[in-house]
Amino acid sequence: MQLTAEQTALLETVRSFAQREIKPIVHTYEAEDRYPSEIVEKMQELGLFGLNIAPEYGGAGVDTVTYALVFEELSAVWMSLAGILGTHGIMAYVLQRFGTEEQKRRLLPRMASGELRGGLGLTEPDAGSDVQNLKTTAVRQGDRYVLNGQKMFITNSRYGSGLLVLARTNPLADKPSHGMSAFIVEHDEQTPGYIVRRPIHKLGYKGVETCELSFEDLQVPQENLVGGEEGHGFAQVMSGLEVGRINVAARAVGVARAAFEEAVRYAQQRQTFGQPIAQHQAIQLLLADMYTQLSAARHLYIDAAEKKDRGQRADLEAGMAKLFASEMCGKVTLDAMRIHGGYGYTTDFNVERYYRDAPLMIIGEGTNEIQRTVIARQLLQRYRV
Ligand SMILES: Cc1cc2nc3c(=O)[nH]c(=O)nc-3n(C[C@H](O)[C@H](O)[C@H](O)COP(=O)(O)OP(=O)(O)OC[C@H]3O[C@@H](n4cnc5c(N)ncnc54)[C@H](O)[C@@H]3O)c2cc1C
Repeated sequence: MQLTAEQTALLETVRSFAQREIKPIVHTYEAEDRYPSEIVEKMQELGLFGLNIAPEYGGAGVDTVTYALVFEELSAVWMSLAGILGTHGIMAYVLQRFGTEEQKRRLLPRMASGELRGGLGLTEPDAGSDVQNLKTTAVRQGDRYVLNGQKMFITNSRYGSGLLVLARTNPLADKPSHGMSAFIVEHDEQTPGYIVRRPIHKLGYKGVETCELSFEDLQVPQENLVGGEEGHGFAQVMSGLEVGRINVAARAVGVARAAFEEAVRYAQQRQTFGQPIAQHQAIQLLLADMYTQLSAARHLYIDAAEKKDRGQRADLEAGMAKLFASEMCGKVTLDAMRIHGGYGYTTDFNVERYYRDAPLMIIGEGTNEIQRTVIARQLLQRYRV
């Protein structure tokens, strides 16, 4: 793919920021599972929170391809930073596409500057893949909605200040999905009824917080109902997840790229039996497969992003990209560890981090089993007998 001069310049800025500011400190933040406030401030200064927000609302308005390439660059150094941007970007996308003009003018400039940093409050203890089973309710009382329920695994829900929350507004709707609405919940430590139950301790994806939440009579002004009309939340959020899946695929490519690059370097330095291990055919086969799969995954996510940019339906392509890239990432990071031998299993090298980060891409934004069902449904329609 031929990058434009603008894309090249943006990616170069992100790459040098990641190398200069993040690479030297990632090990410490990761080991301490510390939220990278200082880096987030620099991401704000660089305008990263407004990348997918239109210039009229204070953002850069880059296309889906460029946005995904930025996710790859950040993830090649520290995937957690892409997590801080990820669900923020989904919330911005949904607001921009489905919000009222008043909502866009009020909220998007603050999101673009990173003052309002968002997330996605979808999953619940009994509603992950089966999101239509969610129990959180939003009941209209005068000029506000009152939210009650529990949310699980919500990234950016403590150090961020906004969440796109899916809740049930009509339990009697003809279909469960028609009874759901999406709300923008603004919060801070003092917000009554917004309760962070606990941070969830994770295998990887350190630094960025993922929490269990409760809403107890949480009051949301009616003007924060996305689009101003009840019953459209499910479709709005699903549309946002399509872009989210492209970005998850790009994250997987970024992590796998970093693992490959460290492995190919190490393979030329480490000697066994009197020669660099890169001279052993067994290692060469691994390297060849790693790079081939990595390149194929990049093509898939760029293809999905290009389709989205042309305004075409891209759920099949986004699903395939997410499925292939995340499975590829799981395999490539393990192979990078194999190439590093015992050293790869230690925290002295980065590959153990890449290996721990990889499974999130298999599970998050719709598990790969769910991706397969989405892909198959599309295929059966397309190839209907
Ligand atoms: C670190 C992390 C961060 C996250 N961040 C967020 C966030 O910011 N916001 C948010 O809303 N959510 C977030 N999630 C939640 C994530 O999207 C869910 O974990 C995911 O969708 C799976 O839901 P579940 O965990 O309930 O698994 P389940 O739905 O219980 O699935 C368990 C297993 O059953 C399989 N399965 C389920 N149904 C089917 C089916 N119909 N056919 C075949 N197989 C099936 C699944 O693939 C999986 O293998 C996060 C999760 C993690 C781990």
